[in-house]
Amino acid sequence: MGKMKDLLIELQETPIMTPCPDCVGIGTIELDVYRPHGPNRDVGYIDTRTVVCETCSGDGEYERLCDCGSPVTKIMGHDAEKCMECADDA
Ligand SMILES: [Zn+2]
Ligand SMILES: [Zn+2]
Repeated sequence: MGKMKDLLIELQETPIMTPCPDCVGIGTIELDVYRPHGPNRDVGYIDTRTVVCETCSGDGEYERLCDCGSPVTKIMGHDAEKCMECADDA
């Protein structure tokens, strides 16, 4: 029986991760950097620079949060948007 209980606790404590919409789960974003022409460059061009996504801090996903600020955990089901406490209130 111990195994089942462990699984239940894990589901209650593991937050659902939402793929980051800003970097579509990659963790980095490509920014356009405008390089005008100058003394060392004949022609201006647009460069791209890869930066770490600020929304997810480079993880590509983040914890789904309930309106109250608590993480929504796996026990609530994949499409849940409320934490255990708020679901109990409803
Ligand atoms: Zn991101
Ligand atoms: Zn909540």
